[in-house]
Amino acid sequence: MIKRTKILATVGPSSESVEILSAMIRAGVNVFRLNFSHGTHDYHLGVLNNIRRAMEVTGQIVGILQDISGPKIRIGMLKEEFALQIGDRIDFYKEEIEGAQIDTHHYATSLNRSEILEKLSIGDTITLHDGAIRARIVECEAKYLQAIIENNGNLSSKQGVNFPNTPLGIEVLTPKDKKDMEWGVANAVDFMAISFVQSAADMIQAREIIIAHGGRVELIAKIEKFDAVEDIDAILAHCDGIMVARGDLGIEVPFHEVPMIQKMLIRKANEVSKPVITATQMLLSMTENETATRAEISDVANAVLDGTDAVMLSEESAVGHNPVLVVETMVKTIQSIEKIYPFDKFSEFKHYDKMDIVNESAVRLGDALHVQAIIAMTTSGQSVKKLSRYRPEMTIYAATHNERIARTLTLVWGVAPTFLTTTRNVDEALEEIIEQGLTNAIIDKSHTYIFTAGDPVGIHGATNLIRILGENELKFFGKNQKV
Ligand code: PGA
Ligand code: MN
Repeated sequence: MIKRTKILATVGPSSESVEILSAMIRAGVNVFRLNFSHGTHDYHLGVLNNIRRAMEVTGQIVGILQDISGPKIRIGMLKEEFALQIGDRIDFYKEEIEGAQIDTHHYATSLNRSEILEKLSIGDTITLHDGAIRARIVECEAKYLQAIIENNGNLSSKQGVNFPNTPLGIEVLTPKDKKDMEWGVANAVDFMAISFVQSAADMIQAREIIIAHGGRVELIAKIEKFDAVEDIDAILAHCDGIMVARGDLGIEVPFHEVPMIQKMLIRKANEVSKPVITATQMLLSMTENETATRAEISDVANAVLDGTDAVMLSEESAVGHNPVLVVETMVKTIQSIEKIYPFDKFSEFKHYDKMDIVNESAVRLGDALHVQAIIAMTTSGQSVKKLSRYRPEMTIYAATHNERIARTLTLVWGVAPTFLTTTRNVDEALEEIIEQGLTNAIIDKSHTYIFTAGDPVGIHGATNLIRILGENELKFFGKNQKV
């Protein structure tokens, strides 16, 4: 059964072997995520090699996404766990200290990025332990800021700290991130996700770094700051895709606004034909349990209906007890909800360029002729993303002479990057595609297909050919086919 919505799975100790990775690909993973918040370059190189082995073993194309950790702000080391209670005082020192209790109901600690303390004033909120504990600034001294704890909770070393509504005003790309990006270019990852993006300028800077290293990757903006939500139109113009990073987003904005923001972000990404990933806590309880909660299953299904290109697994596949079972659960959920998917979204989008019109027409023609699939030849992948925008019920088979481009299409809804061609001549490439298709039982001579291309090949943004491939055309172009 086909599955059009893509699955992105984070690799970690539970899933890093070639065997498990291969099983996950067979179960339905399209893209693997390397989380650079953890692990050394050596560790990630091992994982990367295993993913590439798994691709060979399964004969399937998957994408590799490097997630750059960004300026994640954390509490320093604590002597012991703090059992914080409402009304307790906590001092955030500007100099690095080892955190400790200094009196009854009074604690002291520091942050890994103390410069952020300069941006805060009395009345501002700090959240601790990834949003679980709220504190409010009540005093700003030369050496420290004092806050009052507003709800009970335990705090341990290095837990995440957030500053809702405070623009960080610090560089989004840290020196570590820049080294990690250099590694990503050197090791030819397909996607790079940038964390805590605040504005389009951050994406422009990230792009410059990649170009400076001579690389080409698809840049994904992780939307997890209030400022990024506000600046989404400009960010979309300067990235190749976005992630609705609900984990940190739900701390940075009021948690109850996350579903509304998710729908808005997906809608806007769909509008400009850029892939969007919905991430975090999708099947979280399966990290430990055999089954997901009904609410989690509904969350995955509703993200699909919202129009997401991909859904993501984090802890579930990285440290969970059964990553393959989690992928299988996600696949079943996607396939069930796709039975009532609102295909053919023709009226929803504006035409921004000629390509939008041509690709919409190709989907309409395919629908009217009840064709089996669209086979789209693409040099940059752009035309295929435009076809996907209309969410056709028929499969979109992408054909390209560049394997890197094929891998970048692994994230795009409804697209199967299937054919690799050796020639840039359209008629010759079509012969190759039909031969490959018939040999691998992807194309069936008794069905009709739509073929789209730009002729001559390689002129950017120039889909100018829509061809109907019926029985006679398939026989003619597949003349060398022996089966
Ligand atoms: P993270 O990003 O897992 O790297 O924090 C995703 C999120 O914040 O939801
Ligand atoms: Mn995050």
